[in-house]
Amino acid sequence: MSKRDYYEVLGVSRDADKKEIKKAYRSKANKYHPDKNPDDAEALDKFKELAEAYEVLSSEDKRAAYDRFGHEGVSGQPGAGGFGGGAGGFSDIFGDVFGDIFGGGGGGGQSRTRRGSDLRYTLELDLEQAVWGCEEKIRIPTLVECEKCDGSGAKPGSQPKTCGTCGGAGQVRMSQGFFSVQQTCPECHGAGQTISDPCNSCHGQGRKQEYKTLNVKIPAGVDTGDRIRLSGEGEAGAHGGPAGDLFVQVSVKQHAIFERDGANLYCEVPISFTTAALGGEIDVPTLDGRVRLKVTPECQSGKLFRLRNKGVKPVRGGPVGDLICRVQVETPVNLTDRQKELLQELSDSMGEDSAHSPKQKSWFDGVKKFFEDIKK
Ligand SMILES: [Zn+2]
Ligand SMILES: [Zn+2]
Repeated sequence: MSKRDYYEVLGVSRDADKKEIKKAYRSKANKYHPDKNPDDAEALDKFKELAEAYEVLSSEDKRAAYDRFGHEGVSGQPGAGGFGGGAGGFSDIFGDVFGDIFGGGGGGGQSRTRRGSDLRYTLELDLEQAVWGCEEKIRIPTLVECEKCDGSGAKPGSQPKTCGTCGGAGQVRMSQGFFSVQQTCPECHGAGQTISDPCNSCHGQGRKQEYKTLNVKIPAGVDTGDRIRLSGEGEAGAHGGPAGDLFVQVSVKQHAIFERDGANLYCEVPISFTTAALGGEIDVPTLDGRVRLKVTPECQSGKLFRLRNKGVKPVRGGPVGDLICRVQVETPVNLTDRQKELLQELSDSMGEDSAHSPKQKSWFDGVKKFFEDIKK
């Protein structure tokens, strides 16, 4: 089931401010409120959808995450460690937090749990897929909890034993001169428990490497470098710890025609030299079909034509970009004798008159001056 865009749900624009969002939510929520629509399942669904959209768009952090990554950006459990920011270091932050909670010395059963690692997957997309959004199947190698032993690492029917060296803490204190240093237990390697009878499916690890296939929804407008977070789809945690997250990193392939720069698209358009001289209309491609472009007379190579709103709608919101066409005048080739004759005739008629090629005239003047300066 695909979710509707939250802005669409509330019927506000992407740059609506807090007041507008609140107002839109109030009037719509009023309309679909269960008290006013008893036993109306559709109204209830609408009401829930509104509440969800309002919850995200009314919070600055959540709205930023949603603007950036779409529904994936806010799909984590509510309040699960704030997904603001963006660049870098999620794995470190989470690793630290959970490491402190579960890893260190607490002793007893909890010391074995460890959060699984975050994974990163680079997803290559065509420009069209990135611009319109898409759903991609990805296959990733990951550690999953062993089914045979339910992640304990011990052979079914047997139990892991508390480590005798550290008493289950996973850490031991060592005195070095003045300092007392806490170190990972050398016997159980921090697990706090030893397995005398390891599960033969996972060899006592509690986790196994497997491939899993995931459907990833790519929001429209993503660009190279954007990351989509799939909460809990990373490596399984060790010994009952929470799973890590999967970060899908977008990499957009080069396109045969268009080059992208933020919200704008660029493309080179060859035109014949007669069209360049006389003006005319040409077909240019856009991402949603071709459009007619009016070429003004006396058009030179390198001239830019801007087609408004034919670029990309950025995933973080903001105005749709433009398509900018750079004209390249093409010198005619494979001319027949007759065509050559006509061109010669044209050339003769223009003669030495510099009015027809002012650029050439000023260039030659510059060259002439250059040689005269040398002679001096
Ligand atoms: Zn130990
Ligand atoms: Zn196992």
